[in-house]
Amino acid sequence: MQTSPRTTEESIILIISGAISICLLPFAVIRTLNGDTAVAILNTTAVVVTLAIFFNVYLTHKIHFARWGLSLLSVLVMTITIGLKGYEQVVWVYPALTTIFFLLTPTVAAAIGTLFLINVLIMIWPQVDNFFTLKFSVSAGATLLFCYAFSSRMRRQQLFLEHMATSDPLTEVGNRRALEEVLLKTIERLRRYPEQTCSLIMLDIDHFKRINDQYGHGCGDQVLKLFAKIITSRIRRTDDLFRFGGEEFVVVLENTSLEEARTLADVLREAVASAVWPQTDLQVTLSAGAAEFNGHETAYEWLARADAAMYGAKELGRNRCHVA
Ligand code: GH3
Ligand code: MG
Ligand code: MG
Repeated sequence: MQTSPRTTEESIILIISGAISICLLPFAVIRTLNGDTAVAILNTTAVVVTLAIFFNVYLTHKIHFARWGLSLLSVLVMTITIGLKGYEQVVWVYPALTTIFFLLTPTVAAAIGTLFLINVLIMIWPQVDNFFTLKFSVSAGATLLFCYAFSSRMRRQQLFLEHMATSDPLTEVGNRRALEEVLLKTIERLRRYPEQTCSLIMLDIDHFKRINDQYGHGCGDQVLKLFAKIITSRIRRTDDLFRFGGEEFVVVLENTSLEEARTLADVLREAVASAVWPQTDLQVTLSAGAAEFNGHETAYEWLARADAAMYGAKELGRNRCHVA
């Protein structure tokens, strides 16, 4: 059986759920042996739930519910434990706080963490003196703040790296890697919901080499940028434009039949042909090939059909659209 590789998020959830169940198991046993029924039930339930989350993520690779499940479980179990056993249990507040920052976005984790701390403070208030309250508030508050600062920074870096890895620096549209990811997800969805449809348009600028030769590479770059802007301004919000490579672009059209894709391809062709470019004597045209997903092909085969249709348009004289 072929297994798909795990994402970093999945690994983090597996480590956290595995660690929580292993750490809680001895306490569940000790509390049971000591006849501390309420806490024993609480700890055993937490072990069972975290194990269920672990195996669910391990087998399905789905992490959305696991994120929320583990975060709420940590906060709830700690709150109930402090309620049952008293203020000494506040030592567990610190790992619970750091756990939610691993699992949720910084702002959501900070909001839940703040509510959690306020709740704990209200619970322990009657049991401790003012100095203990101050010590706990400052140390737990500082932990919350440091976790927030650290996870915000990590998140910003992660978003930046994701952007770098998936966008084309010249035209700022998605790159080939992003296109491949979108096509794989789209095909997975279309296989699950065969009544839906999706089409591709492959766009290739005509005689682009001549533009470079005649006006220089810098002008060629400008044309590519403006070309991407023109196409982006004409496609729908649900459609996506990607730079496939060089002067070739691909538009992915959600819920679009081949006929509708052909109509849109012609709108795009017209828009480029009638555009005004900074070099007044320059005229740019494109050739396009459209292909609708046929239900059983791979992303590579689907792209190849759109590409073949585009080459058909080139052979018929360029500045036209052709369908697969
Ligand atoms: P056709 O109509 O058959 O598509 O001809 P073409 O000249 O457009 O196609 P060809 O594949 O012969 O040439 C594509 C050119 O695009 C060659 C390459 O130097 C140029 N090119 C690719 N990437 C870039 C880029 O990022 N900037 C610039 N300025 N040129 C690029
Ligand atoms: Mg070309
Ligand atoms: Mg080309």
